[in-house]
Amino acid sequence: MAKISQNVIEEIKSKISIVELVSRYLTLNKKGDRYWGLCPFHDEKTPSFSVLADKGFFHCFGCGKSGSLFDFFMEMEHVNFPESIKILGESVGIQIAEESESEKKIRSEKETLLDLYNKLAASFTYILTNSDFSKGANEYLNHRDISKESIDKFQLGYAPNDPDWLYSFLHAKKYSDELLRKSGLFSKNNDFYPLFRDRLMFPIKNWRGEVVAFGGRDLSDTSKAKYINTPETLLYRKREIVYGLYESLVDVKKEASVILCEGYFDVIAMHQGGLTTAVAPLGTAFTEDQGKLIRRYATTITTLFDGDAAGREATKKALVVCERLGITNRVISLEGAKDPSELLEKEGEKALLKACSDTKSGFDYLVHSYLSLYDSTKATGKLQIFNELVPFLDAVDSQIVQQTYLRELSRYLQIDESTLIHEMRNKGAKRPAFQREAANTFSSQGQQGTNYSQDLYTLLVLVNNRSLFYSARNRLKISDLIDSEAITIYTLLEDAIREGTIDSDELILQGIENPSLRNKVSMSFQSKEFSKNPQKVIDELLKRISIRTLEKSQKNLEKLIAVASKNGTISLDISDLLYEKKAIDEKIAMLRLAYHHK
Ligand SMILES: [Zn+2]
Repeated sequence: MAKISQNVIEEIKSKISIVELVSRYLTLNKKGDRYWGLCPFHDEKTPSFSVLADKGFFHCFGCGKSGSLFDFFMEMEHVNFPESIKILGESVGIQIAEESESEKKIRSEKETLLDLYNKLAASFTYILTNSDFSKGANEYLNHRDISKESIDKFQLGYAPNDPDWLYSFLHAKKYSDELLRKSGLFSKNNDFYPLFRDRLMFPIKNWRGEVVAFGGRDLSDTSKAKYINTPETLLYRKREIVYGLYESLVDVKKEASVILCEGYFDVIAMHQGGLTTAVAPLGTAFTEDQGKLIRRYATTITTLFDGDAAGREATKKALVVCERLGITNRVISLEGAKDPSELLEKEGEKALLKACSDTKSGFDYLVHSYLSLYDSTKATGKLQIFNELVPFLDAVDSQIVQQTYLRELSRYLQIDESTLIHEMRNKGAKRPAFQREAANTFSSQGQQGTNYSQDLYTLLVLVNNRSLFYSARNRLKISDLIDSEAITIYTLLEDAIREGTIDSDELILQGIENPSLRNKVSMSFQSKEFSKNPQKVIDELLKRISIRTLEKSQKNLEKLIAVASKNGTISLDISDLLYEKKAIDEKIAMLRLAYHHK
């Protein structure tokens, strides 16, 4: 689809009001300048979900969700931004930019491929459940205690051993050779030799339930690869798909959590054991894209990977991804079995259920697994444990949480907290979260009494008065900012200027990946606070930030001067330093003066 233009957004907004759209899903009542209703995103008995009609935004004072009419539609219909534009646009007769010829060709190939995969999945299932070739496959499933219900739920199938079957089957269905070559179903080196032969087939579905790829488990015991997957195709990017998410979606939404397992059989075993929120990344690594997909429906991810070294490493990586995306993370460690499917086989569903009820926080899991791996009484052991934890600690974005972790860790390792902070900085980690936050916080006058750092407050004023950003960016460098959320908004505004999207609230919001920051910005769009006297407020804020930056240089210079005068060395030229310091002192004094005269 062509790039989404501001005009299209404005046109849609002019034809569908947010009140009208939201009213399709819930009942709204007008009170004051807002419309109110029961929030569709969290459970409540009294309305805290509100719509500000003239601004075109919603905000829930209960769960904090906030956004434009597009965000609302995306959330309710589980579509992405371009899809929401397309569906809403078409519903009011707005022609969304014409596809180019090559776009059209790709779309049609995609659609044909999708159709092929879904028909083929049904054929594999038919062969598994109705043919004579699949005796071995059924015996195998029996042996692994996979029930009939599971076979149905996950639409398992069987790919026959016959190397000619697949091509003649699809050829007879009139799929072109050109398409079959791109289908990912045949060997790379041998055009129409099937990738999957004598394999138990797992259809891989996207969250809408469409089959986009296959995984196959070898049943012949002759293949070197126990499991193989379809390579990436027009339909399938493995880093973006989560196995089992479609099959789990109803319960995932209900519980707002998922259990992340390693493989196909683990997911199936878990579901069979009653743990119906189990899903798996495809391949070993859990990616950020997969995390973002899950985050649409869940706030917690509990990891359940194998207990070996590879499993531990995969767990650690998954926890870092969760932490980076602000997803609550927990870990289940199985005792007495390698993985859930083995536990199910050996001890049955009750044992599996019981094992999964015992979870640890991601941090606790990591600390304890490294404490048992390394000798924490020795200096090298302490350092190893700390090094293993750095990526996780570095991903933590909340100052309170990070400080709590470091304090806890300092107790386990018998090392000063300040030493750990220092060590983290030496590792090139970004600054500890609690130092990243600006020293001054602002209490918003808004409805929620939210506290913003000085930096974030400044950027919120700028994002609400974007014409001021053009001059502000000459006075405010990105390196002057220390709050990571403020840095995100600053970068976003720079990008928006480059891409010509600076005037659209909706496009600005879509550029923010972090949901909590997106909520804050959306909330600010609805608050009058950020539009009061913006020029004056910005002048003052920029002055304060300049003073802060200058004071930092002042301190550094003072340190250098102290060192230089103590050593009496010539390597540092004191007079230069003193001169530089004097200039900074004067600048600060001037800014302060101007500030007090306001
Ligand atoms: Zn809510």
